[in-house]
Amino acid sequence: MTEETWGRARNELLKSIGKNNFTTWIEPLRLIGLEGDIAVFEAPTRFMRDWVSRNFGEPIQRELRKTGLSVERVEIRVSELRPVPAAEVTRPAPAPARKPARASDDAELPGAPLDARFTFDSFVVGKPNELAHAAARRVAEGGPVTFNPLFLYGGVGLGKTHLMHAIAHDLQTRRPDLRVLYLSAEQFMYRFVQALRDRQIMDFKELFRSVDVLMVDDVQFIAGKDSTQEEFFHTFNALVDQGKQIVISADRAPGEIKDLEERIKSRLQCGLVVDLHPTDYELRLGILQTKTEAYRAQYPGLKMADGVLEFLAHRITTNVRVLEGALTRLFAFASLVGKEITLDLAQECLNDILRASDRKVTIEEIQRKVAEHYNVRLSDMIGPKRVRTIARPRQVAMYLCKQHTTRSLPEIGRRFGGRDHTTIMHGIRKIEELMATDSQLTEDIALLRRLLES
Ligand code: ADP
Ligand code: MG
Repeated sequence: MTEETWGRARNELLKSIGKNNFTTWIEPLRLIGLEGDIAVFEAPTRFMRDWVSRNFGEPIQRELRKTGLSVERVEIRVSELRPVPAAEVTRPAPAPARKPARASDDAELPGAPLDARFTFDSFVVGKPNELAHAAARRVAEGGPVTFNPLFLYGGVGLGKTHLMHAIAHDLQTRRPDLRVLYLSAEQFMYRFVQALRDRQIMDFKELFRSVDVLMVDDVQFIAGKDSTQEEFFHTFNALVDQGKQIVISADRAPGEIKDLEERIKSRLQCGLVVDLHPTDYELRLGILQTKTEAYRAQYPGLKMADGVLEFLAHRITTNVRVLEGALTRLFAFASLVGKEITLDLAQECLNDILRASDRKVTIEEIQRKVAEHYNVRLSDMIGPKRVRTIARPRQVAMYLCKQHTTRSLPEIGRRFGGRDHTTIMHGIRKIEELMATDSQLTEDIALLRRLLES
């Protein structure tokens, strides 16, 4: 077969498979020739070889036959023209028995840098993050994939990034043979756009399809970014098909991410979707105690009065990042002024943080948010209607009022159109009961909580 026949076949291919496909997949092929009845080509990467064989093998064969050649099959090999280390070039040895390297063995795998502090050891486990932690541990074992993807979601500062880094750290020591790539969705997009611009989309695809564990943080970022979503979807599928582990984080559940394609949502829901709940008092105290231990080593001799940590755990309920910031500031301040850390000192030094955390959620606010969420009228929330479509949201609102305000049951009753406190109690119990079995309800409530806390 001559370049000329291939040229003719190529022109026909361009017509039949379209310009885009042609540029991406056919143009980079290099003709080797006919070996018997086999038409042989070279592709620059392993990924390309597989893709072209699978998707364009037949069209290529068809067009070659039309030129009058007898072609039984098309074979695509990976080009040997890859950069070879200088040492190998100068060595006069015969073609060395180089191990049949994976096509991307010497490709770089730069992800985002990992924070050395974000390990499992430094992660404090409590009720709100128990399941997320257990799932992350499982992935970090590097064993066979049991759920794919692991989807971690929750509000800001609840430990999603911490857990992902912890997985990466653990895998690095336990399974150094695995290629682990961690990056934010934003970086994914950035690299994708850059690859498009530099016409290195094949390298990009190759790189992302050659990892063993892919972790993408804050995936909500790609919502509404169409071509990045598309690419992410293909990467995702290719890896899942190969049985590679994927870990994703987002600030909300897959179904709640606006402008994310339906097919992506449903793929994301295929694995294990785990919610990091807002911290509770015990978890906050645990975190404060752990971090305080570390500070004691850093500031020897600094004293802390009893009750300070309890006070902070009680008052700073926003998120762990704020909690940590408060403690850091407190230690730095106390060591600067050379005083013991007392309640008074904490109050003075953390005045602004404490005031910001003081924002109280009101019953009206809860009723309004719940009504909006379920699309019912605010007046129906407090009115007498008993149909389920209204009664249920009303009970959700009662439940949230009990949890998020300091109001008593009779007070709450009064604000729900003068209902008796036993009605409120019944409503709260009902919701607690349903939450054990109704995951949709549990998600609704988690979402509403986040809305109220933000
Ligand atoms: P997210 O990614 O969910 O916004 P991060 O993982 O960045 O949150 O966590 C914010 C900060 O809080 C980090 O410094 C992290 O180490 C700390 N943190 C969060 N949860 C915990 C926890 N359970 N134990 C210890 N530190 C935590
Ligand atoms: Mg994060």
